[in-house]
Amino acid sequence: MTFETQALGERALSRLDALAAITDEPGRITRLYLSPAHRRAADLVASWMRDLGLDVSEDAVGTVRGLMPAGRSGPDANRKLLIGSHIDSVIDAGKYDGCLGVVAGLLVVEELKARGVALPFGLEILAFGDEEGVRFPTALSSSSALTGTYRADWLEATDSDGIKVKDALKAFGGDPVRVRDCTISPDSAIGYVELHIEQGPVLEHQGDALGVVTSIAGQSRFRLTIEGEAGHAGTNPMPLRRDAFAALAELSVFIERIAREGTAGLVATIGKVAVHPGAPNVVPGNVEATLDIRAGADAPRLAAIDRIRHEVEQIARRRGVKIRLERQTDVPTCPMNETFQSKLASAIGSMGENAKSLPSGAGHDAMAMARSFPAAMLFVRSKSGISHNPAEFTSVSDLGLAVEALVRFVVSLGEPAA
Ligand SMILES: [Zn+2]
Repeated sequence: MTFETQALGERALSRLDALAAITDEPGRITRLYLSPAHRRAADLVASWMRDLGLDVSEDAVGTVRGLMPAGRSGPDANRKLLIGSHIDSVIDAGKYDGCLGVVAGLLVVEELKARGVALPFGLEILAFGDEEGVRFPTALSSSSALTGTYRADWLEATDSDGIKVKDALKAFGGDPVRVRDCTISPDSAIGYVELHIEQGPVLEHQGDALGVVTSIAGQSRFRLTIEGEAGHAGTNPMPLRRDAFAALAELSVFIERIAREGTAGLVATIGKVAVHPGAPNVVPGNVEATLDIRAGADAPRLAAIDRIRHEVEQIARRRGVKIRLERQTDVPTCPMNETFQSKLASAIGSMGENAKSLPSGAGHDAMAMARSFPAAMLFVRSKSGISHNPAEFTSVSDLGLAVEALVRFVVSLGEPAA
């Protein structure tokens, strides 16, 4: 750790603190899409961009954009590298999730200027507004607008007060009629890179500060219903019962075992369970549950689903219950660009740090951006993997390392291939 990276981390932190002070709910960080706090945060980011001499604009869906043109001529002089993340938050959030990627983009510009680096391509820093999808039932709508994949029905989606996205956009200063103008054509950008806190415990567990994301995990979500037979808890002998909850319990232990045996970071979670009729003296007649399965590659996830389906049939037959496993969503794995991955790893290695490769279990704007551009993500260690929580924490020295790695990555993209 050199003095410079420590100072870089402190500069990142002071901007993260400034953004954290902007909230819709005094006493905690809540910055929902198109809210008054989002407005103030967007204005602050725009003012930072102007201070850096960037060409600042805000697109029709509220993404703040700051462009630095190429510093020298070459075949990519009219193209740009996109660097960004989001400035919206969950309710009662931490201060690093999303904002770090935006702040890091600004620090990259600052460092390139300070170091006298002239890139052969432009840089555009992006501060997305709708990543968390908390206020409206949308998914990565700001980055989808940028890749031309914004769904028209999102404009009609409403928040809990009945306010439509299109009306909130107008109040914010956006323009629902001009969503299509947000699109950046695939050939005008050389790619997209996003620095984000890991939001998981893997890097900390391995003792690594930084990681290169191999893919954003594919995800399948199911609704699970088990129908048995309710009955008196005192009078029904065990062999005669058709206990829906006991069937779920057996299935859940099986699911945990195959997830532990899985590869590519396979994880499976039964996160919500409702037992009916739900009384201490009644054998559960019916159970509803959710099942969420993710992995960094499609094959292990799909293989796990096959094994679960097979086991469902076995348990249903053995226990005389009816089990329904209904798939609700199925998002394929989103691989990150391999050239960018290896350049990120080299940048990390050049600082004497280990470059751990890992999948991202959480979704990010990079998923939407990967529809149009080579996309990559750099992860920085989060304390205890805690996120979406005020206890979210990344040390100043890790922040500095992460920003420095991003600077070196950007510089290396501008160097001729060896
Ligand atoms: Zn995030």
